[in-house]
Amino acid sequence: MHYDGIVIGAGHNGLTTAAYLARAGLKIAVVERNHRIGGGCSTEERILPGHRLNLHANFYMGMGLSPLLRDLELHRYGFSYIEPPVQQAAAFRDGTCVVIHKDLDKSCASLARFSKQDAETFRDLWHTYCEEMRPLLVSLMYNAPLPRDQLIDRLSGAKGKELLSHAQHDLFSVVRKHFVDERIRTLFTSYMHVITTENVPGAGIVFPAIFANIASFTLPVGGAVSLVHALTRVVEAGGGDVITGAEVREIKVENGRATGVVLDDGRFIGAGKFVSSAIDFPTTLGMAGEERFPEPVREKAKSWHWGNHSLVTLHLALKRPPEYRASAFDPDMARAYNIFFGMENIDEVASCFDDCKAQKFPKVLMGNGACNSAFDPTYAPSGSHTAFWWPFAPYSVDGGPQEWESNRADYTQRILDYWRVYASNLDGDNLLGSYLFTPLDVEKLNVNMRQGAVRMGAYVPDQLGINRPHPLLPGSRTPVEGLYLGGSSSGNGGGVNGAAGYIAANAIADDLRLKRPWTPVPPPEWKH
Ligand SMILES: Cc1cc2nc3c(=O)[nH]c(=O)nc-3n(C[C@H](O)[C@H](O)[C@H](O)COP(=O)(O)OP(=O)(O)OC[C@H]3O[C@@H](n4cnc5c(N)ncnc54)[C@H](O)[C@@H]3O)c2cc1C
Repeated sequence: MHYDGIVIGAGHNGLTTAAYLARAGLKIAVVERNHRIGGGCSTEERILPGHRLNLHANFYMGMGLSPLLRDLELHRYGFSYIEPPVQQAAAFRDGTCVVIHKDLDKSCASLARFSKQDAETFRDLWHTYCEEMRPLLVSLMYNAPLPRDQLIDRLSGAKGKELLSHAQHDLFSVVRKHFVDERIRTLFTSYMHVITTENVPGAGIVFPAIFANIASFTLPVGGAVSLVHALTRVVEAGGGDVITGAEVREIKVENGRATGVVLDDGRFIGAGKFVSSAIDFPTTLGMAGEERFPEPVREKAKSWHWGNHSLVTLHLALKRPPEYRASAFDPDMARAYNIFFGMENIDEVASCFDDCKAQKFPKVLMGNGACNSAFDPTYAPSGSHTAFWWPFAPYSVDGGPQEWESNRADYTQRILDYWRVYASNLDGDNLLGSYLFTPLDVEKLNVNMRQGAVRMGAYVPDQLGINRPHPLLPGSRTPVEGLYLGGSSSGNGGGVNGAAGYIAANAIADDLRLKRPWTPVPPPEWKH
């Protein structure tokens, strides 16, 4: 078997790299260890037939501005999404809620019920990050991260400086800087934690990019897996293959150049032009031979921080969607897509993450969820619904990760009881069945999400921007000629946006001087 290029891992990033390069005329093989494609874009029926559960990613953010959809014409290959008009809501125990809409005025009206000042701040932030600077944020996302001095130079205008000033903050202080009301602060700290990880100094830099997506949460029609199916069709239409059930154990390097991969069963697949790894960075180093990488890179791989928290998801099959008590306070609560609950104030948010760090089942369970079938009927059989809630939780819980397995029924009950505080109908004949997907299950299904690492490596400043995975591996390139990194643990990776795969495709296209049938996203610049 011989190809122009091999991509390791058929998650959405690997398939993105493959799809772009197949379009540029290369013959590509994507090699996947599991018998199914998709990695963290998975949809399965684990409760009852027809109840489709997105086991990993559910909320695809900012799809409307993604270059992938446009360049690869993914709609022609079967991918589409819904962007619900009522985007987010946070419900509180006293029956109140805050609701974020696609419509700015409606969001401000909801926020103003708690704080007029916060509503005005939200309006200003919206104009800045969701409108004026949105193209810049897209450029930052879909270009390789820059070294700090270059970034400062490129963003030397007043608003560019203001954007970069968020790096002085941790998550809580950045939210406190912008908002005054405790409920609204609670919503935004929870929202930030969903995307990023630990509340450490410097993590505030993610605020602008996260805020920019606050009203662009989308639901993939037919399931999260529909994205990777569409990408696979693009690869195959370009003459490439996606080979499943094939675990790569070694990246073959000859005379300093990556020449192919060796599978677990000993088969060799040759690559004439490149090998791109879309799995995690520490494993990739081991496969290619750690000695080929400089010592600081090897050290970073050894101390890679997978994160202090993961997610535990309770999926439910229901007759009727969850009925949130807060709908009496604001009827739009019942139409909201991404729903947060469990936390009343910032101290409770902090206590949840402290418990996760201490590897305890959190006393304050908090997180977000959705009822997908309320927006896309293909998620459940007619006359019924699927809903989930994924509170934050540690990988190793109350003594070890195996506890998730040993006490599955108990954890299921505890999470359901907590959910019932907010929703009134999760019992009796409305509840058709449930399935708990634990941090241990995350790792079992997706080996590169080690320790249940949702982002394949925590979002902490030492693992963000040019530091993801290491400044000595800029723009997906490695010291091994023809070997690239294009997965979630490399630059801008860690969510379903294809950025890491896209950046790798562009680096490979540059190095091979390929004629691109797409126009790359322009480099970031903000000088006025
Ligand atoms: C519970 C949960 C909820 C999430 N929710 C969201 C969300 O709502 N929105 C969002 O944007 N993101 C979310 N994420 C994160 C998202 O799932 C990941 O960021 C994304 O799927 C990563 O894509 P990827 O292509 O980089 O890697 P992956 O999807 O992990 O793909 C890597 C692939 O490589 C394969 N592989 C590993 N080792 C080998 C090997 N040796 N040989 C061959 N193949 C190999 C794996 O089997 C896997 O298929 C969530 C994750 C979890 C766990």
